[in-house]
Amino acid sequence: MNKFIINGGKAAHDIIQKTLLRKRYELPEHEAKELIETFGIRTTRHRVAPSPADAIQAAASIGYPVVLKIVSPDIIHKTDVGGVKLGIKDDEGVRDAYDEIIRNVQERQPDALIEGILVQEMATPSTEVIVGGLQDPQFGPAVMFGLGGIFVEVFKDVSFRIAPLEIYEAFDMIHEIKGAKILKGFRGREAADIAALTQTLVQVSDIMVSLEGIKEIELNPLFVYPKGVKAVDARVILYHP
Ligand code: ADP
Ligand code: MG
Repeated sequence: MNKFIINGGKAAHDIIQKTLLRKRYELPEHEAKELIETFGIRTTRHRVAPSPADAIQAAASIGYPVVLKIVSPDIIHKTDVGGVKLGIKDDEGVRDAYDEIIRNVQERQPDALIEGILVQEMATPSTEVIVGGLQDPQFGPAVMFGLGGIFVEVFKDVSFRIAPLEIYEAFDMIHEIKGAKILKGFRGREAADIAALTQTLVQVSDIMVSLEGIKEIELNPLFVYPKGVKAVDARVILYHP
């Protein structure tokens, strides 16, 4: 076992318990990110802001440009309700985006409970992949991998393995999808950091194997850079007792 599992075990367990005590079965994005960070997966710097003034303060401490997102237990696909604003450059932009997100959500999903706005670092755009953890009804914990966007949604170009994953299995999962070439660099694009991506698949496997109560995890997307990776959105779904 590596140090992340030992550290991650207790901290992650506490995050899960906190959610269950509120009778919720899905972690909000920022808590899902805190959980995966305890297992060594890098995510965005972020803070939940309950007001536009707080959001401006948060942006100043995170550093521009920032991203604003709706925080609501009732919203799964934030973009669909106009709940995500990218690349905000200054205080005025934060104020406008804050109000616009609240307006969008009130208009498109009026009964959604709004808990605040998540202010986060705008990560440099890069190749987007999806890494998932799930419970297979027959085999137990499993890991899923695919390229982001239409590759998963339209082409269903994904790979699966039963957890716990060995490093070589994670490596195979990455190479066996049809779109793997995209990660290897083409048309002037630099090759993605396959070693860091491999490690992320193993970390998701560690989470699924070592924590009780998790039904599903989704890093969607994980940005893969020529050096390193970063999860810019994360979901963790718990079992309903
Ligand atoms: P949704 O709930 O709609 O999946 P996401 O949080 O995934 O919302 O945001 C939608 C898209 O915006 C992502 O797929 C990604 O391309 C981009 N994005 C989200 N967060 C960031 C960020 N912090 N930095 C850069 N791009 C981001
Ligand atoms: Mg997403």
